[in-house]
Amino acid sequence: MPFIDIHTHKAPRSGILSIRNIRWGKKGHFEGLKAIQNDMIVDAISIGLHPWDAQWDQQAPNWHELATLLENENVYFLGETGLDYIKKENLSQQELAFHKQIELSQKIKKPILIHCVRALSEILSEKTSRKIEGPWVLHDFNGNSQEIQAAMKHGCYISLGKNMMRDNTKVVKALMAIKRDRLFFETDENDYSIEEVYQRYCELSGIGEKGLLELCEQVENNFKTLFALKSLPFY
Ligand SMILES: [Zn+2]
Repeated sequence: MPFIDIHTHKAPRSGILSIRNIRWGKKGHFEGLKAIQNDMIVDAISIGLHPWDAQWDQQAPNWHELATLLENENVYFLGETGLDYIKKENLSQQELAFHKQIELSQKIKKPILIHCVRALSEILSEKTSRKIEGPWVLHDFNGNSQEIQAAMKHGCYISLGKNMMRDNTKVVKALMAIKRDRLFFETDENDYSIEEVYQRYCELSGIGEKGLLELCEQVENNFKTLFALKSLPFY
């Protein structure tokens, strides 16, 4: 029974199914990524233009290139994309990049991994107004129980990471509002292991160490449902 790390920037470890994120366009470079070519890819990938990287002067992102990269069978998600309202200086480009990537995901029919900072209602209303049925995964979620309800009502999955590892955050206080069939876990850029993230959930939720196996099983089922798979890849 594997641990699944739905969002990490690190190389895969054996025995863990992880989806490694590539920040397409980081530092303003929108050129092709050789690493994603079929013959070189060895793990599951998510790729997208992160809201922090949505800044360009003359050379706008080559969306056609991103579309091509997304078609690779080892790419599971488009993302991170979304909105970060703490970072206001590039907000119009963030919005443009988000909208463009929603359109791409519709065409390519892959789910989106969302980076959301203080922008939940804007992100959810984008999903509603475009009538998007497909699931989105909200990464490193931090919200109260109303926000959790709203996210689930809009068909989103909730991935728990850094904000659950900290004490007294909104999501720690409202943890029990998240339905187990909407749950994922992640390490992102942090130094703790994915096992520690699962264990933290076991402690906080009261299911304890003996609930771990069932939790792994649940997350595995969530993964299969999300990607319409019968068995797990790369494992
Ligand atoms: Zn990340």
